[in-house]
Amino acid sequence: MVVRSLTHAIKNVFVKPVTRLYPDEIMELPERFKGRHHLDIEKCVGCGICAQTCPNNCIEIVKFQSGWYPQIDYGHCLFCYLCAEMCPLNALSNTKEFELAGWDKQSVVWGPERLMKRSEK
Ligand code: SF4
Ligand code: SF4
Repeated sequence: MVVRSLTHAIKNVFVKPVTRLYPDEIMELPERFKGRHHLDIEKCVGCGICAQTCPNNCIEIVKFQSGWYPQIDYGHCLFCYLCAEMCPLNALSNTKEFELAGWDKQSVVWGPERLMKRSEK
């Protein structure tokens, strides 16, 4: 048993590690990967269908500038994208931006102003 474990350990010294040195080495994301949402403020009418659809109640319709738009709590989002599917005006779409962690609960709540920003990914 000890010999087998040792042989296995020695063999692995010469094998390339499968782990990545994140964040220096970021993995290539699959084509259909779903990260945070992008909100098209020109299309959104604030109907709230997305909020009604969300299975985890993480969308709230909030006032922004002269209208009402979705705000998403990424602390609870499942990335199921039912909200975008049900939006009658296709105002929500997906980006590949996945680095959404924050130091407190409030920092992972994305209001319309953040959601409408174009993703660089
Ligand atoms: S994103 Fe779509 S479903 Fe949500 S409030 Fe705007 S128009 Fe309505
Ligand atoms: S992706 Fe799913 S969980 Fe996240 S806001 Fe949309 S409906 Fe809710």
